[in-house]
Amino acid sequence: MEKQAPDDSPRSAPPASSLGLYVHIPFCSSICNYCNFNRGLYDEALKTRYVAALRQEIGRGADGRPEGLRYESSDAAPVAQGFSPASAADTVFFGGGTPSLLTPDEIGLIIQSCRDRFDLTPDAEITLETNPETVDREKLERFREVGVNRISFGVQSFQDDELKRLGRIHSASRARAAVREARAAGFDNVSLDLMMWLPGQSVETWLGNVDALVDAAPDHASLYLLELYPNAPLKEEMARGGWSLAPDDDAAEMYLRAMERLERAGLDQYEISNVARPGKASRHNLKYWTDGEWLGFGCGAHSTRDGVRWKNVSATGDYIDRVTSGADMVTERRVLSANERLEEALFTGLRLTAGLDLEAVGTRHETDVWAVYGEALRPFLEAGWLMRDGGCLRLTRDGMLMANEVMAIFV
Ligand code: SF4
Repeated sequence: MEKQAPDDSPRSAPPASSLGLYVHIPFCSSICNYCNFNRGLYDEALKTRYVAALRQEIGRGADGRPEGLRYESSDAAPVAQGFSPASAADTVFFGGGTPSLLTPDEIGLIIQSCRDRFDLTPDAEITLETNPETVDREKLERFREVGVNRISFGVQSFQDDELKRLGRIHSASRARAAVREARAAGFDNVSLDLMMWLPGQSVETWLGNVDALVDAAPDHASLYLLELYPNAPLKEEMARGGWSLAPDDDAAEMYLRAMERLERAGLDQYEISNVARPGKASRHNLKYWTDGEWLGFGCGAHSTRDGVRWKNVSATGDYIDRVTSGADMVTERRVLSANERLEEALFTGLRLTAGLDLEAVGTRHETDVWAVYGEALRPFLEAGWLMRDGGCLRLTRDGMLMANEVMAIFV
């Protein structure tokens, strides 16, 4: 059942040297009843001010730190003071929220700000998360003209009753049409998101969604499990509608059978929740799973660089005020300890089907990984959840269902 990762999936690659840039767009046309992201309702005037603030933040510094701020830590080297010189970046990811609510001109201006501030490589992957309802062919063409080269559609389901239950504004037919429009607009890198284990969803209805996704022929797909936060309005609606979640065993079957179907369709799994055609794995998201570094811009955005992690203030208005007044928009800043960096490399790397190259990670983090964790990991190897493949340690597909248990060893 286990397969090799697509060619472009790094086999426990060393940390990527180029940065990833994440740009958060916190506006949505309506709020889905399960959503716990940092987002709010679209407001034209606020959006205009937000785009200006974003461009200001991007231009402000390659590390987001107010000039003169210095970090000290006993177990991490002090970070250089002040702004860094322009750094190379090879991905830009517009996430949200609904970034496709911005006009193509606004997206183009933000990309230009990235180019002005960073050494953006000519082949940079530039992704726009898109709600199918917010675009048509013309708008997609314009997004492409201003530099977007990867579209990620939040489809979630190909069944209208499921979409309604989730409070989504698009229909299944609009999602199909949007994918066709993206192709017609010239996009050769299209990703679709699907959500699994929805209220009232059976194994068969889920597999119907997977087949519809295969018919839409994307280059990449992400399958997410619906996670309901404590006060999600969907919980109340589930109680009123009498919709329940399928049993855990069914959820496992949904996952395993979906992965088999997607593989048969040429979409190879490269991460627990992600599949892609060869060469189309998400270069941006791989930075999160391979010890990479990234800078996040916008309200609530996280960054990790030089062993320091920081987060911008979450509220949109507060973010705009802080950026425009020259104040520090960062609310949390932390130097990661050597041990935290190792643990994170282990549990994110294990998400990849390529697994962890124990020697490479050990060298990078100056630790004999097997000597430290081998005894705790042995029961998972014996249970068939983990396997050693040459110098690599990886989860089997059955093990991916138990990933949280296995990864708990590292934290
Ligand atoms: S479109 Fe996405 S970000 Fe916006 S409310 Fe729905 S799930 Fe949340």
